[in-house]
Amino acid sequence: RKGNVIITGASSGLGLATAKALADTEKWHVIMACRNFLKAEKAAKSVGISKENYSVMHLDLSSLESVRQFVDTFRRSGRPLDALVCNAAIYLPTAKEPTYTAEGFELSVGTNHLGHFLLSRLLLDDLKKSDYPQKRLIIVGSITGNTNTLAGNVPPKANLGDLRGLAGGLNGLNSSAMIDGGEFDGAKAYKDSKVCNMLTMQEFHRRYHEETGVTFSSLYPGCIATTGLFREHIPLFRLLFPPFQKYITKGYVSEEEAGKRLAQVVSDSSLTKSGVYWSWNKNSASFENQLSQEASDAEKARKLWEVSEKLVGLA
Ligand code: NDP
Repeated sequence: RKGNVIITGASSGLGLATAKALADTEKWHVIMACRNFLKAEKAAKSVGISKENYSVMHLDLSSLESVRQFVDTFRRSGRPLDALVCNAAIYLPTAKEPTYTAEGFELSVGTNHLGHFLLSRLLLDDLKKSDYPQKRLIIVGSITGNTNTLAGNVPPKANLGDLRGLAGGLNGLNSSAMIDGGEFDGAKAYKDSKVCNMLTMQEFHRRYHEETGVTFSSLYPGCIATTGLFREHIPLFRLLFPPFQKYITKGYVSEEEAGKRLAQVVSDSSLTKSGVYWSWNKNSASFENQLSQEASDAEKARKLWEVSEKLVGLA
């Protein structure tokens, strides 16, 4: 049978390119988990994904209620789940004030981390039940959360501190809207959320790989400077960022190539090792990359897991 893969945020950028790459193999049915149904349908059509190879299901990661509803709807579809790709993200680098999810968590961390945390915790049961030979749970990471890289050292740097803001509810009322308890900074909130994504993947691996056989992975697909991720940035940045990445840093990768890379992490039989953060070299060959000290801190990962469980109502 075909594999079934859920991809969050498949209505644009990396998620759409990955949906296309997997659907085109005729070996996967892609469930596009998106907040905007019409946009997702149009996107699937615009890149030519054939009708029988995808379905769109509504998911708004900035509402935990919506996450739970999505899981119910998916289960009622009767499809087994063979792979889950947590890809959606928002980036609000120019925001002056924090905005919040339905449950009142700062929007970047609430969407990118907490929404995906609940989704992947609930869907782990479905992955466990599947009889597919190589089951995978992937959480998209980023170089920007890794302070052991040049890109990760552009201020404001990611730093989760002692998680006091998160533990306080990340609500800007009786706690800070930032994980480390500091002043709100939209660009930092995004980087922090990506560190959470990479820590969560490793904690999943430690807790569940042996028991379930599921492969847990993260990746940095390269700098896809043309996606909608930068839509909130100032116009001059949006104009100069793609050529800067193409000709100066040479980290630029097209949406199509990045989609192929993520598709490899979903289905390539050579990428079955669990707990790995994948990257690609200049010749587009995959390799196991090193995470920064904070993004590989096992004690912090455990604490993040426990605090997140409380916030999303799992503990
Ligand atoms: P895009 O903005 O193109 O795609 C993000 C997707 O997330 C969109 O489909 C968007 O939906 C969706 N999304 C946003 N908020 C929600 C929500 N509340 N509920 C459901 N879906 C939501 O960005 P990219 O393709 O660049 O980003 C994809 C991933 O790649 C992210 O995890 C990002 O961190 C990562 N990444 C990107 C890099 C880059 O250079 N672009 C580099 C490294 C990592 P909608 O279409 O409705 O807006």
